[in-house]
Amino acid sequence: MEQTLAILKPDSYANGNAGKILAHLEAEGFTIRGLRVVHLTEAQAGAFYAVHSERPFFGSLVEFMTSGPCIPVALERENAVKGLREVMGATNPAEAAEGTIRKLYAANIENNAIHGSDSPENAAIELAFFFSSSDLIAAR
Ligand code: GDP
Repeated sequence: MEQTLAILKPDSYANGNAGKILAHLEAEGFTIRGLRVVHLTEAQAGAFYAVHSERPFFGSLVEFMTSGPCIPVALERENAVKGLREVMGATNPAEAAEGTIRKLYAANIENNAIHGSDSPENAAIELAFFFSSSDLIAAR
């Protein structure tokens, strides 16, 4: 079993799609081990996306991620990191495969419904960004 971090982004929260996306993830075999509703500060969003700080869209991305509440979710499944990336679909919903979360719920390349960790190493870092180990329900 592997854990990964998803964030249902502010567009999903504002549009009332959070529950549908959680149901989609559960239907794909993910177990929810932790879940919060948070409204990120500019500093938090900037730190979370620090890897993109030199990109031209960084300021806009931080503005979007701080525009309203979002829902970080700790997910567990076999092959969770790679599996979540497949279920999410491509960054740009115009290029996302049919049936993926971004194809179904994303508006554009920035307002793209969901974040998912891109490697097991980053999943560990990103899970720790939002959850302490005592917040995560251990598998029985
Ligand atoms: P992800 O791993 O599929 O989320 O994609 P990236 O790590 O490359 O980018 C992080 C986030 O930045 C994306 O999910 C989008 O919200 C945003 N983003 C990525 N590329 C672009 C872009 O070209 N323009 C804009 N405005 N936002 C982007």
